Amino acid sequence: MSTGKVLIVDDELEVRQILQEFLAHKGHEVYAAGSGPEALNALDTFKPDVVLLDVSMPEMDGVETLKRIVALQPTLPVIMVTANADVGITSKLLGLGAADYIPKPFDLEYLDQAVSIQVSAAQDR
Ligand SMILES: [Mg+2]
Repeated sequence: MSTGKVLIVDDELEVRQILQEFLAHKGHEVYAAGSGPEALNALDTFKPDVVLLDVSMPEMDGVETLKRIVALQPTLPVIMVTANADVGITSKLLGLGAADYIPKPFDLEYLDQAVSIQVSAAQDR
């Protein structure tokens, strides 16, 4: 069973680098996108098993990007990464089709677990 292909989407280079390095070390195949439009392109080119999507990004934010991903690939699990994890925003994200959410600043081991859970759930479908 594959450990899965993870598409990371975050506008901050440092965050992309930390996540990319950590998740690659955990055995995932990883692609990092710096914006919503770049992430949408990567759906076709990289074909991720799971998406880690930052909520706060300039221009196309994570909410808009989530809506477009769900419209294009409704079964692809999207885990939102948000600095503002209050009940209002998280229930909105889940209502829009997010599979899960992770509060920022994130715990890397917890994040890897959340990714692995979504990859195996997707493989079971
Ligand atoms: Mg951001």
